[in-house]
Amino acid sequence: MDPRLDKYAKLLIDVGIHVQPGQTLVINCPVEKAEFARMLVREAYRAGAREVVMRWNDQAISRETYLHAADEIFDTFRPWQADQLNILAREGAAFLSIDSSDPDGMNGIDHARQVRQSRAFGPAVREYREMQMSDKVQWCIAALPEKNWAKKMFPGVPEDEAVEKLMDAICATMRITPDNDPAEAWRQHNAELNARKRKLTEFNFKSLHYVNSLGTDLTIELPENHYWDGGNSVSAKGVSFNANMPTEEIFTAPKRDGVNGRVVSTKPFDVGGEIIDRFAFTFRDGKIVGVEADDPHHRELLEAEIALDEGAAYLGEVALVPYDSPISRMDALFYDTLFDENASCHLAFGASYPTVRGGADMTEEERLAAGLNQSITHEDFMVGSADLSITGVTHDGREVPVFVDGNFAF
Ligand code: ZN
Ligand code: ZN
Repeated sequence: MDPRLDKYAKLLIDVGIHVQPGQTLVINCPVEKAEFARMLVREAYRAGAREVVMRWNDQAISRETYLHAADEIFDTFRPWQADQLNILAREGAAFLSIDSSDPDGMNGIDHARQVRQSRAFGPAVREYREMQMSDKVQWCIAALPEKNWAKKMFPGVPEDEAVEKLMDAICATMRITPDNDPAEAWRQHNAELNARKRKLTEFNFKSLHYVNSLGTDLTIELPENHYWDGGNSVSAKGVSFNANMPTEEIFTAPKRDGVNGRVVSTKPFDVGGEIIDRFAFTFRDGKIVGVEADDPHHRELLEAEIALDEGAAYLGEVALVPYDSPISRMDALFYDTLFDENASCHLAFGASYPTVRGGADMTEEERLAAGLNQSITHEDFMVGSADLSITGVTHDGREVPVFVDGNFAF
């Protein structure tokens, strides 16, 4: 057993999800990682959890379902499946998810079935999703190595060695070393991210202008009263947690109808297991009106993604990550958004986080009116590059360099 796993489990329970005495913890975990799940359960009860509810998943079985189950099941759901999540969220449970999957494990399935399933199930779990998206309840996603994922990341390396290398990479991003206290390292990291987001919030930019040599030339307006978020979050009950581990980003919401121009992706984008190396979106008044990809099939996949509902064709996130951030410096492609988004500035189409003052308590209609996009989807895509420049424009017309050559200008 890798001795780092003990530190990792403790870090996720004490800092990542930060489960409280008397609180219920829900753990989503692949069956292959049962041993780690048991460590998490033991740590959770050590921390005083009231109950741990396990939700096991299995990518191979999901694949069989998409390939062979009766077609009509993808348009229906059983209410108890939605009730489980909605009721647990209402009770104030915390949700910890372990991601450990083969990036190609869903290749060849009918992607339309996944889309139909989200369309059927998404609205039914709106209450749970809403509480999670607005950080009312603690939630945390973290990863463990999976053998096909490791082999894809380190081609030509024997399997055991590749898994070990992936574990080394994950531990580096998690700030776990043989002799440190990773919880203390994370408290310091969170403090640094907090200082940077306060500074950006104080600038109160009207818009950001992105330019690079790949052909990105995009203007993103920001809503009134927006603030920048990142690092640790604080739940409705005042509990600090880290929703994504690792995390290096500072983010806010774009103004729904205030995005214009063209943006070119800079890292592979995963649509249900299919990897799209490069694509571009053109925006007019917030809406994606043009999709470019070299492969026509990839263009169709992207077009299906942004047609999931009305809000799917609008942006919901603008995130800043220095080109020199630790994950970027590793210069490894993880084929996993959880890691790769931290190597690059990114945008997301779909739902926004309610990053305007009072946003967490607004109704859906009020959020839309405040310029915050609403959707059942939220998909990050990477736009950072070594030569990216971002200029902030203040409400009195002042231009402030935010990014120069891929990194923060201040
Ligand atoms: Zn992000
Ligand atoms: Zn995102």
